Amino acid sequence: MKRIAILGSTGSIGRQTLEVIANHPLEFGVEVLTARSNSKLLIEQAARFLPSMVVITDNSHLDTVRTALAGLPVRVCGGEDALEEAVTAAGVDIVLAAMVGFAGLIPVIHAIKAGKQIALANKETLVVAGELVTRLAAENKVGLLPVDSEHSAIFQCLTGEKHAEVDKIYITASGGPFRKLDITALEKVTSHDALKHPTWNMGAKITIDSASLMNKGLEVIEARWLFNLRPEQIDVIVHPQSIVHSLVQFCDGSIKAQMGLPDMRLPILYAMSYPKRLNGLFPKFDFAGYPSLTFEAPDSVRFPNLAIALEAMRSGGNMPCIMNAANEVAVEAFLHDKVGFYGMTRIIEKTIQKATFLSVAGLSEYIESDREARSIASSFV
Ligand code: NAD
Ligand code: MG
Repeated sequence: MKRIAILGSTGSIGRQTLEVIANHPLEFGVEVLTARSNSKLLIEQAARFLPSMVVITDNSHLDTVRTALAGLPVRVCGGEDALEEAVTAAGVDIVLAAMVGFAGLIPVIHAIKAGKQIALANKETLVVAGELVTRLAAENKVGLLPVDSEHSAIFQCLTGEKHAEVDKIYITASGGPFRKLDITALEKVTSHDALKHPTWNMGAKITIDSASLMNKGLEVIEARWLFNLRPEQIDVIVHPQSIVHSLVQFCDGSIKAQMGLPDMRLPILYAMSYPKRLNGLFPKFDFAGYPSLTFEAPDSVRFPNLAIALEAMRSGGNMPCIMNAANEVAVEAFLHDKVGFYGMTRIIEKTIQKATFLSVAGLSEYIESDREARSIASSFV
């Protein structure tokens, strides 16, 4: 049995991971659960799955969780520092990183250094510090198994293939809820409109990123590091049905695609069961329901965040870290209706101009750049 530590168990990915685990009780067990502030759900999950340890990082909820779980064989800890012990505990085989944003980086690094396999949903970890994290994973002989559906697709297509024979990859994008809107209409959209995603049901931050196509930009950077590709080997293609999850083109011109219904439980299951496949106890694809699958080019004029992310990737160094921090601040502001759709873009652009660029960076520089960029971005809200 593989024992799993779920970082962010109360979120969209975290809850679906627990569903997958509950469907495969002989294969997987829950060793650790962590959440930021949703104490009610964390308590319910802990009482049902009885992990060895739970962590609530927002200490103001610690007493509530402790009291509720008193009498159960579950250790309850609070604060971000407790995450280090949680991910490095001897009983943990796989750390499923499903917290949102920069906050995922440090716990993932601790887990890698402790030799734990990583099932990675938290793409921001690779956006901010992809070079460092992939190097540490290689040094510690730790697998980074993608949970992001596009990256799971590419990973599945690459299984059994040689890296040198990969020509390029195509990352598919649904196009989000605003795919057909013009600039005038986009200037008026609200967070309420953006939270209605056509094909995926996800947490608020990634849903806004999907509406602005920043999510695709983050995913290109994530793919660059996960699969060790040059920026020019990665293309984005809009595929509104979200059935083809991504594609790999090889040197002979052959293309492999991975398909399935848009259901995160599949990539979650594969990241945990790899190299095996287990029965997916969820609806399977039916051709009759999808008479046509379509593809179109993304529009970086209406969706400038995609181009900004690609440019940040090409700049390298701490630029993706700066951009990510600015985007986290911008998305938060948009969610609270403090800026409009293109207000997010302006915050990111102005932060990139003002923040300190470093062509070479390590962990301490990333932490400092994240702090500086957040503070600059906040001043533009
Ligand atoms: P979510 O907002 O639904 O859940 C986030 C979880 O992380 C919650 O459990 C929350 O308590 C915890 N958390 C948030 N901030 C934290 C902090 N500062 N410290 C500790 N814990 C914190 O998000 P989600 O949609 O599940 O996404 C999680 C990650 O997975 C993101 O990086 C996202 O980009 C990625 N991802 C999500 C999906 C999806 O379908 N939801 C798909 C692909 C990738
Ligand atoms: Mg994705």
